[in-house]
Amino acid sequence: MENDKIRTKLLATLGPATSSYEIIRFMMQEGADAFRINFSHGSHDEAEQLISLTRRAEVDVGVSVPIIADLQGPTVRLDDLKQFDVVKGKKYEISEGGEIPLKSDTFYRLVEVGDTVIIDGGKLWAKVESKNGNSVFISFIVEGTLGSKKTVAIQGKEYPLSSPTEKDINDLEFAAEAGMDGIAMSFVKTPEDIEKLRAKIAALGSNMFIVAKIETISAVNNITGIIGATDYVLVARGDLGSHFPMVKIPELERNIIRQSLNYGKPAIVATQLLDSMISNPIPTRAEITDVFMAVSMGADALMVSGETAVGRYPIEVIKWLRDIAKEGEAYSRARPKVEGLDVYDKFAEGVANLGELIGGKLVAMTSTGKTPQRLARFRPKCDIIAVCNDLHVAKKIKLTWGVKPVIMQQEKSEQAIIDKLKSISLIAPGNKIVMTRSLKQGVTDAIRIIEV
Ligand code: PGA
Ligand code: MN
Repeated sequence: MENDKIRTKLLATLGPATSSYEIIRFMMQEGADAFRINFSHGSHDEAEQLISLTRRAEVDVGVSVPIIADLQGPTVRLDDLKQFDVVKGKKYEISEGGEIPLKSDTFYRLVEVGDTVIIDGGKLWAKVESKNGNSVFISFIVEGTLGSKKTVAIQGKEYPLSSPTEKDINDLEFAAEAGMDGIAMSFVKTPEDIEKLRAKIAALGSNMFIVAKIETISAVNNITGIIGATDYVLVARGDLGSHFPMVKIPELERNIIRQSLNYGKPAIVATQLLDSMISNPIPTRAEITDVFMAVSMGADALMVSGETAVGRYPIEVIKWLRDIAKEGEAYSRARPKVEGLDVYDKFAEGVANLGELIGGKLVAMTSTGKTPQRLARFRPKCDIIAVCNDLHVAKKIKLTWGVKPVIMQQEKSEQAIIDKLKSISLIAPGNKIVMTRSLKQGVTDAIRIIEV
């Protein structure tokens, strides 16, 4: 597998364009580390089909691939309407049952004259000209096509709607039942949102990990608390660009990645990475530069959406991500400056340094996944092999930069662990190994150097 060569992880959204066994298997072989199913689109039947194809391919390829359920979260959407093209500059009425039909007390309460209304995830922009209760007149700044059920956002404002919604709960139950591995939560606002979701997951008897999608103004303001509560942070550039001026996206992306590194949580960069590849086999120069920048800023993982869900070239998308990430990594080998380290973080930094000094590989025994993630945070030049007790932990840490999870019972002797790692070609005779394990319950505090 070619992806052995890159440390950045790749997350691909499944959809109609990738709902075949062969394509899913090819994506895995080309280096897709995890898949996402977006519950804003598609039915539970379709999701079930994608999950079972992935499980089959996992066995055949011999890798474990987490599948993440992306919950839609609270959104305001247009009602059903007959699709039509809007004329730039012309006035249209948004109202219940009007020419642009919308039922949402929250929207009418929040919107004001002078606001910019963004419809369909950033495709259509309009200025609010006048408002009279639940009737709002807008004029479009751009041309485009308006259709049923498209999202409606107000730039610079956020709806005071709470999550998870009823639909989210229903999807969450499905995800737990179907054995999905992680949940991505849309429109997170506070750390409490994450805690609420975690309690709901636990109540279902599941331990799916959580990806907090940073896409609201509150989430940006509460970023340190959210980083503390979540398992992964995701820079959701699509909806970020509806809540903030779009020219602020690069700065937001950089800050969110930096904060995640500082607090030791892996960060995923998402949305429009290789958007033009939805219809073209080759990305643009600008897209290549964007992906390179995300990697060199320190992203743990890259996520593609429409590129693989509905695009014509899903396999090529993975290959391009891999090739660009490789270049970005070569450029970003400097150790990031991380702050706020506790004694175990410092231990991990020492282990990372030692691994580099002796030109070895790091092998971390882990029961929660914390140690390999602590090691990864220092972006060591050496491999990070995580020996996990169970599949759940292995999948949970799969999207962390450079971490290679292996499932194995830890009571096994050191020699048994080395033999197993040799048998799957993760280590070879002559390698030097820095092995960490825990003597005290719950923390990594022991270290051994082994020559294979
Ligand atoms: P979405 O989230 O694809 O679910 O909208 C990502 C984003 O908003 O960027
Ligand atoms: Mn979004």
